[in-house]
Amino acid sequence: MRTAMTATAVLRGPDGRVRAVTAHDTGDRVVELSARFVVGADGGRSRIAREVGAEVVERHRADNATFYAFFRDVDWGGSEFHVGSGAFAGVFPTHGGEACVWVCCPAATAAPIVGAGDRRIEALTDLIGQTSPSLAGRLRGGRAASPVRGAVGLPNQVRRPAGPGWALVGDAGYHRDPITGLGITDAFRDAELLAQAIDRSLRGVTEEREALATYQRQRDAALRETFDLTCALARFPEPERFVALQKRLSRAIEAQAELLASMPAPAPAAMAVAA
Ligand SMILES: Cc1cc2nc3c(=O)[nH]c(=O)nc-3n(C[C@H](O)[C@H](O)[C@H](O)COP(=O)(O)OP(=O)(O)OC[C@H]3O[C@@H](n4cnc5c(N)ncnc54)[C@H](O)[C@@H]3O)c2cc1C
Repeated sequence: MRTAMTATAVLRGPDGRVRAVTAHDTGDRVVELSARFVVGADGGRSRIAREVGAEVVERHRADNATFYAFFRDVDWGGSEFHVGSGAFAGVFPTHGGEACVWVCCPAATAAPIVGAGDRRIEALTDLIGQTSPSLAGRLRGGRAASPVRGAVGLPNQVRRPAGPGWALVGDAGYHRDPITGLGITDAFRDAELLAQAIDRSLRGVTEEREALATYQRQRDAALRETFDLTCALARFPEPERFVALQKRLSRAIEAQAELLASMPAPAPAAMAVAA
């Protein structure tokens, strides 16, 4: 395990197979790390994906924004979801009486937040007020506990997730609008599926190409329904349709949870090796 390293490039053998990465530490010392297999788990702007040339095989419109801030001294009843015309806002209570308060909307709608300078909390509260005046009123009676953070124009895209000597997991291989809040589950799922594939390949149970094709097939099947629903929700249909899609999403998430729960636990021998 090497921490505080930044991977900068992949190196290939004469046969084109990825065989190493180059990286540098915080003191700019460059190292070359050889590997039987390189996994890019480096997020939506994945350098590994660029380096290996993992092409985007599916791309959808991506012109939304998600912004959030933490608030305190507000009476939270629990998690809240507010569906408006062209916006989706909510509250996730977290710790110490605070809550993460967020809004998803088209990028153009969020322009006042982007351009608000040091008045971004007020701009976020005003935007939330267009969907839920009552929530905005409660926020104005409380206190912001963080700056406003967020992102605009995050991609809805699927990349080819594997090739000779390399694979991608999480946002590096599949990125979707945060409107469905599923990226962490997706990342764990893909890591689990890939771990099984690499394990079969390294133990010689399955030829690498076949093991990686299985990973790709399983990932693509597992993401299909929630990706379609995410893209549909990200177009902000009228509230009645939006809520109907959310109910379908809820069922799809249950099915996803059952899939994850049905995956085999690591064998005791494998855990002993890892320890
Ligand atoms: C505003 C917003 C709200 C969201 N809300 C939710 C939510 O409620 N629920 C949910 O499940 N998901 C949510 N997501 C999505 C979720 O954050 C991501 O899907 C998830 O973090 C992806 O995990 P990952 O490990 O693939 O990538 P990341 O979490 O991005 O991790 C990648 C890591 O790789 C490191 N890295 C990058 N490049 C290099 C390099 N060259 N060398 C070494 N290291 C490198 C980065 O520093 C980072 O630590 C949200 C996303 C956003 C933007």
